[in-house]
Amino acid sequence: MAEFLGNWKRDCRCAELTEQDIGREVTLMGWVSRVRNMGGILFVWLRDRSGLIQLVFDTNHLDEKTYSLAESLRSEFVLAVRGLVKKRDAAAVNDKLKTGTIEVEVKEAKLLNEAATPPIYTDDGANENEAVRLKYRYLDLRRPSMQKMLQVRSKTVNAIRRHMIAEGFIEVETPIMTKSTPEGARDFLVPSRLHPGEFYALPQSPQIYKQLLMLSGMDRYFQFAKCFRDEDSRADRQPEFTQLDLEMSFVEPKDVQTIVEGAFKEVFQEVKGLDISLPLPRMTWKEAMESYGSDKPDLRYGMKIKNMNDWANDCGFSIFETAVNEGKRVCAMKADQASGQLSRKEMDALGEFVKTYHVKGLAWLAINEDGSLRSSFAKFIPQDKMDELLSMMEAKPGDALFLIADKRLTALNAMGQLRVKLAKQLNLADPEAYCLTWITEFPLLEWNEEAGRYTAAHHPFTMPMEEDFSLLEDHPEQVRAKSYDLVLNGVEMGSGSIRIHASDLQEKMFSLLGFTHEEAWTRFGFLLEAFKYGTPPHGGFAFGVDRLMMQLLGTDSLRDVIAFPKAQNASCLMMDTPSEVAEEQLTQLHLKRN
Ligand code: ASP
Repeated sequence: MAEFLGNWKRDCRCAELTEQDIGREVTLMGWVSRVRNMGGILFVWLRDRSGLIQLVFDTNHLDEKTYSLAESLRSEFVLAVRGLVKKRDAAAVNDKLKTGTIEVEVKEAKLLNEAATPPIYTDDGANENEAVRLKYRYLDLRRPSMQKMLQVRSKTVNAIRRHMIAEGFIEVETPIMTKSTPEGARDFLVPSRLHPGEFYALPQSPQIYKQLLMLSGMDRYFQFAKCFRDEDSRADRQPEFTQLDLEMSFVEPKDVQTIVEGAFKEVFQEVKGLDISLPLPRMTWKEAMESYGSDKPDLRYGMKIKNMNDWANDCGFSIFETAVNEGKRVCAMKADQASGQLSRKEMDALGEFVKTYHVKGLAWLAINEDGSLRSSFAKFIPQDKMDELLSMMEAKPGDALFLIADKRLTALNAMGQLRVKLAKQLNLADPEAYCLTWITEFPLLEWNEEAGRYTAAHHPFTMPMEEDFSLLEDHPEQVRAKSYDLVLNGVEMGSGSIRIHASDLQEKMFSLLGFTHEEAWTRFGFLLEAFKYGTPPHGGFAFGVDRLMMQLLGTDSLRDVIAFPKAQNASCLMMDTPSEVAEEQLTQLHLKRN
């Protein structure tokens, strides 16, 4: 029978007690984690969000009613006790428990609630099926690791908010029911009852609102914004996620970056006790692609990619020579001391792997400890050119080399993917290291093969670099943008840019993207109109709080860092959403079942 609190008031959390509290009378409340009945004396672990403490129910000090209450306890019952904090006997100390040197001798107890046997274990050891965990998420969240996750998340968000406020930012909320925004994903739509046949879109980001806030004179805006994108789920994607969204007036990229990196510094200090040194390193997109084959390079390990065209031009191997003649790229990468760890079979598997990135194959070379070579292509290369290759790559016995020839970006991208794969296979990345870097000067546009037109690489409001204005007309593909991404250990944390603040340039951008004047005005007319009324130069950034949490907690699933996430197929297994609605609701919304 559940009892009421009455005049009982909790005065401490379980695992906040330390030896300093010995002799103190405390009132604790929480969940029963485990019961051991030793006959006449009963040990109960009581749990709350701080952790566990051992309670002792001893027949020598207790009336019969309280002792029999203790005997009725089962896992997950909700219990309140009053008792005395005591030091444990030396033999009874439990090193595994934060409170392992103390215990609470119970004087009085109240059973606040019983609990049915939970369908999942609430400790971390149990390897429960994820679908069951998601169905009973409220119980799953009782696990110590999940409790820790939510606490670290709260700390992180607080550290960021503190930083933003200290830097003079104003927190503004923007609508959830809005119009399609320009991030390029599919929208979630909400049918309107009052406007038959019309829909709101859930925001993919507050992009347009935050630009309008600059126009309104807010100067520095931020918000923890929920963003909604109807994309196919992946472990690192959720249909709704949280961004720290910010925008600033009268700034250049460096000003925005300084604010963002300051927020990261604060978070790493607070959550990890790590001191990140600022300013963070910066690398242009071109350099990132040339050296790492990726716009989000993991800098915890080396393996830089080299351009070998000068060597390949007359290397004797016709595949490489032809590639150079056709204006393609021959690139190479060295894995130090990897030769012994890569058998012929593994090399062949790597060859298959790179083919999935649209290159024709992988040329590899492994130097044995005695200096002899194993290789897929060495037999085609004369000795002097081979010596030249080894010396250019500074290759030593035990090293392995990889070469790819293809169209420049195709070859670099495949090599970049191989770099990441090899680093995993060879365990090169230090899991305790955090390498943050800015990637700058992205291309403004991307050619979309399917649509037969350009799309914005970031979004259509991104400012081209002034140096490249003259290329806009004839070589738009060469124009660089004033945009920047923040990358942490090979993962894009977020992106931002300086925005176009002149309506004529914005219209020009829309036309490059293939919008007619009318289309541009139908979709973004309110913005183009607004831009006429004195828009300050402005720019901003947004980073995924969930993604940052994944890095801080060392997990590779977004579902581990969100209290109530969606499953892989975008459904909520706990509430069973999406779900059917009543016919009457459909009618009100002017929708018909098909
Ligand atoms: N709205 C952009 C995004 O969500 C970020 C930005 O440009 O500020 O990626």
